[in-house]
Amino acid sequence: MRIVGLTGGIGSGKSTVSNLFKAHGIPVVDADVVARDVLKKGTGGWKKVVAAFGEDILLPDGEVDRPKLGRIVFSDPQKRQILNRFLAPYISSGILLEVLKLWMKGCKIIVLDVPLLFETKMDRWTNPIVVVWVDPETQLHRLMARDGTTEEDSKSRINSQMSLDLKRTKADILIDNTGSLADLNENFQKVLVQVTRPLTWTEFALS
Ligand code: ATP
Repeated sequence: MRIVGLTGGIGSGKSTVSNLFKAHGIPVVDADVVARDVLKKGTGGWKKVVAAFGEDILLPDGEVDRPKLGRIVFSDPQKRQILNRFLAPYISSGILLEVLKLWMKGCKIIVLDVPLLFETKMDRWTNPIVVVWVDPETQLHRLMARDGTTEEDSKSRINSQMSLDLKRTKADILIDNTGSLADLNENFQKVLVQVTRPLTWTEFALS
């Protein structure tokens, strides 16, 4: 089974590209969905978060108040590190389980949509790696428009991640998503050909 890595920066357009893969019948394992599941009320991840951040972090129904937790960890690198350490094992095993389910169904190509693909070293599982890049100004404006967040808040979220320019250097396939959605659709057709073509023996040996 070929596992295509899909990553980029916050608001660079990963989900938009991921939807294009799905629309072309290629299944996607979405790390954000897994990450949400591991924080659900009563799970191991939920218990660790409540123990570390207190019950103030919970909504009246007992679920984690994600925006509140986000504000806390995005403004405090040490707390972000603590949360990452707690959740990392739950998220990576959750992703692996989803990959296994698709493998057992006989899928030949799947996409792993992981915002922190490089940071978590999951890039070792994937080949090729597709990076969705966008210029910094467009990234900031799309993020503010989508989430209704302030410029300051959006910048701190962008700066908390590995730089998008560094991710770009690690791409096997780069999608420049600075243009319109129509441009993206056009670029995506070429990407689709690249990820679905058979590997050469050299690529196979080195993958
Ligand atoms: P996150 O890491 O936060 O999940 P993401 O990388 O998945 O973000 P998207 O949600 O796909 O990013 O895109 C961010 C916003 O930009 C969305 O509102 C999306 O509709 C919009 N967008 C994506 N690509 C384009 C484009 N080419 N032109 C205009 N808007 C776009």
